[in-house]
Amino acid sequence: MQHIAVIGAGTMGNGIAHVFAQKGYQVHLIDISAASLEKGMATIAKNLDRMVAKERISANDKEDTLKNITTFTSLKEGVANRDLVIEAATENLDIKLSIFKDLDGLCEGKTILATNTSSISITQIGAATERPEKVIGMHFMNPVPIMKLVEIIRGYSTSDEVTKTIMELSSKLGKTPTEVNDYPGFVANRILMPMINESIETLYNGVAGVQEIDEVMKLGMAHPMGPLQLADFIGLDVCLSILKVMYDGFKNPKYAPCPLLVNMVMAGKLGVKSGEGFYDYSASRKAEKVSAQFVR
Ligand code: NAD
Repeated sequence: MQHIAVIGAGTMGNGIAHVFAQKGYQVHLIDISAASLEKGMATIAKNLDRMVAKERISANDKEDTLKNITTFTSLKEGVANRDLVIEAATENLDIKLSIFKDLDGLCEGKTILATNTSSISITQIGAATERPEKVIGMHFMNPVPIMKLVEIIRGYSTSDEVTKTIMELSSKLGKTPTEVNDYPGFVANRILMPMINESIETLYNGVAGVQEIDEVMKLGMAHPMGPLQLADFIGLDVCLSILKVMYDGFKNPKYAPCPLLVNMVMAGKLGVKSGEGFYDYSASRKAEKVSAQFVR
């Protein structure tokens, strides 16, 4: 397994391309938007520069890594002769189903098709293809070059052989793969999102302020980041959509998104990416200033 394609050059896709290329894999990075490809490559170069500055890699390693990545706006050209395709496009069911249907027609029979989805069913994505045994979840964490975990999600029909191949490949990348089954939220988000939702509920009920809630979890539970800051970092729209998938999937009220989260998303307060969420990021991305809405 040497030839990889990554679909989507956004936050996750450029990170996934980066880690494969740094380990010597030949990567085709594909996006429908040429601007996203340009931005994604600039992010990879900037992240590599940071690693050179910290003397974790040499300037030659940086150049070699960049040489291992070729960009494409055409899906057909980008996925030709690939052993593995990892889809990291926008989290939207229709987009993913359409990409996988196309991939099934464009890729050779041997090609494994993986998705980095945070919440969409691997079984449903696999069912859009004629090769559900070769469809698997590879859920990288953000930021990909730094975070060790890859949650490997077996769909209902994913084969043992494909699971073993992807587990081994993830280890070769220097990551720690963990195998889980395909149920809403998998493991990471099934546990993380109720905690984030409960922290928003705690704020909504007036039990404590933004900083107090984050401080309790940071200093009391040794979390590196408080749950409200983490929600801002992930994106409040992303948190809402994952909670909705779990609420719909389990029909259990414990996953019902807090009305405050729903309101904030409707108001366009999405966290770091929109400049404001529980914190105000207009001056700094470090969550140093609580949003005016929540100043007590
Ligand atoms: P993003 O919005 O940063 O990037 C998505 C990219 O996909 C964009 O560049 C867009 O142009 C491209 N795209 C959209 N439709 C496409 C298509 N049909 N073909 C090719 N490219 C297309 O999104 P992201 O945060 O990188 O998320 C990507 C995936 O990773 C999602 O499934 C998300 O759930 C998952 N994920 C995200 C995070 C996170 O923290 N952001 C963490 C784990 C998993």
